[in-house]
Amino acid sequence: MRYYDNVVDLIGNTPLVRLRTVAAGIDATVLAKVEYFNPGGSVKDRIALRMVEAAEKAGLLQAGGTIVEPTSGNTGVGLALVAQLKGYRCVFVCPDKVSEDKRDVLRAYGAEVVVCPTAVAPEDPRSYYNVSDRLASEIPGAWKPNQYANKENPRSHYETTGPEVWEQTAGRVTHFVAGVGTGGTISGVGRYLKEVSGGAVKVIGADPEGSVYSGGTGRPYLVEGVGEDFWPETYDRDICDEIVEVSDKTSFDITRRLAREEGLLVGGSCGMAVAAALEVAHRAGPDDVIVVLLPDGGRGYLSKIFNDEWMARYGFLATGGEEPTVRDVL
Ligand code: PMP
Repeated sequence: MRYYDNVVDLIGNTPLVRLRTVAAGIDATVLAKVEYFNPGGSVKDRIALRMVEAAEKAGLLQAGGTIVEPTSGNTGVGLALVAQLKGYRCVFVCPDKVSEDKRDVLRAYGAEVVVCPTAVAPEDPRSYYNVSDRLASEIPGAWKPNQYANKENPRSHYETTGPEVWEQTAGRVTHFVAGVGTGGTISGVGRYLKEVSGGAVKVIGADPEGSVYSGGTGRPYLVEGVGEDFWPETYDRDICDEIVEVSDKTSFDITRRLAREEGLLVGGSCGMAVAAALEVAHRAGPDDVIVVLLPDGGRGYLSKIFNDEWMARYGFLATGGEEPTVRDVL
């Protein structure tokens, strides 16, 4: 018999898939590391496992404990999977702008979800930040992973994602590209690849227009999970050789092409990272191997990026290239 004892054992060891048509005309090899193959469907399973195990070792999380985190998405799913296996309770705090679908996913995994009003100042006692802090201090045995400050976040990538990329490319990787949210992925993978290659691997961060990493002020953008309006402790400023700024429109155009042309139904931050990777690849040579990390799958974005009306509402379908639909023809 060949089987896994539990789904947590399936975390990591995600495949590399070559990008074909979206990288047409490019001499370099462009490889996508497809993180939706993790059991919770995203790269965040890796940090969830690592943060929980480190908290157990440090005695911060004990039998019967509760994990409290402000999260509405991928980190919550990862934490919920790990918590189930280990018998912890999960309470996630999210702002009311988060879609009902995303909250339902967390509840489906057995987590409790506390919804806070978006339209209040951060110092308001009802704010997302204050509610999660209060729950973490009031619930007995509560522990807050805090992915924006937890060193186990970049460390999980230094110890798993980075070595996987090096081994899967037989040490031939020349460029690593990833979107930057907490910065855990780029800081951990980037540090590992720089160390193991003696500084030869170039590390490129992809960032939405408006975010601080590419010199913005935090002005709003629509791509989810990446970019910040502050500098998190998990981001190591010494790692990136370059930050490529990508617009929402380009991110979403490429995201849709990944689904239609490469059979990769992935999220908007994946299109953003691939856009940056293609920019790098255009300047690269035939011996270069560019690895771009795709953080999650596209099912959570069906009513947005993959919905023509939503795309048109924001003007993202306005400029050519789209084939006429049956409705247009009729
Ligand atoms: N894409 C998505 C969809 C995410 O949820 C995240 C995590 N916030 C990222 C990209 C960025 O990863 P990191 O936090 O490791 O920088």
